[in-house]
Amino acid sequence: RTVYVNGEYLPENEAKVSIFDRAFLMADGVYEVTSVLDGKLIDFDGHAVRLQRSLDELDMPSPCTMDELLEIHRELVKINEIEEGMVYLQVTRGAPDDRDFVFPDPETTPPTLVLFTQNKPGLADNPVAQKGIKVISIDDQRWGRRDIKTVQLLYPSMGKMMAKKAGADDAWLVEDGFVTEGTSNNAYFIKGNTIVTRGLSNDILHGITRAAVLRFAREAQMQVEERNFTIAEAQAADEAFITSASTFVMPVVEIDGAKIGAGVPGSNALRLREIYLDESRKAAI
Ligand code: PLP
Repeated sequence: RTVYVNGEYLPENEAKVSIFDRAFLMADGVYEVTSVLDGKLIDFDGHAVRLQRSLDELDMPSPCTMDELLEIHRELVKINEIEEGMVYLQVTRGAPDDRDFVFPDPETTPPTLVLFTQNKPGLADNPVAQKGIKVISIDDQRWGRRDIKTVQLLYPSMGKMMAKKAGADDAWLVEDGFVTEGTSNNAYFIKGNTIVTRGLSNDILHGITRAAVLRFAREAQMQVEERNFTIAEAQAADEAFITSASTFVMPVVEIDGAKIGAGVPGSNALRLREIYLDESRKAAI
């Protein structure tokens, strides 16, 4: 695989980053994952805008312009012949001469920019979507700025392990009695013609897929309520699902052992998945 590091395209085994890089020592980095379908980038602009916001919120310099980022994405997709898969991008606060909590001067310590592709044939036709996934609920023990897409992913990783041990596929995070989101996705339920998902704040990541799916839902004459909800409310719903750049719209059929509706993927969730895939493919660049 050819990867990108700080201006260079290299074979992955030749790519190097300093051990003093602040992402390595302090998780001082942000990232984006953009899907590729038909060799084209899905929702690239949304991911680029959110990346800029993450950088701004952390006072991290931009490594390059968003046009240059688009070029790097396209080049990697081309070199690695990705038809379906993902592009992972990470920007860190760079590698100062020594370990220090204080941010280094960006003049002498430029950001580190790394991108690589992940080949995932069958990403859109994922058979899991026809079966749905099972989730458990766990306490949300992450920090208070989940709107910034940082590489601090230890708690979400622990959550996925808790789910795996419980025989489930993923976990929904609960804070003060209300669902925030999934470990790596936004969480929803549908009751009647109404989709419910938590509103935007610093408590959740502002999903790029979430924004698109809510727009498509409104266009399809569904009601959208952005508000807090409990696990019990979701368990009593007709349907449930998650969204993310890599899973698109994925039906949830069980929460903490309770079947949602008939315990099979809901028709609205599957329809939203189809609409999302169709529309985002048309708009892909
Ligand atoms: N919430 C969290 C915590 C995530 O990590 C992600 C994606 O990685 C999402 C939501 C979904 O965001 P997007 O649709 O932009 O991929």
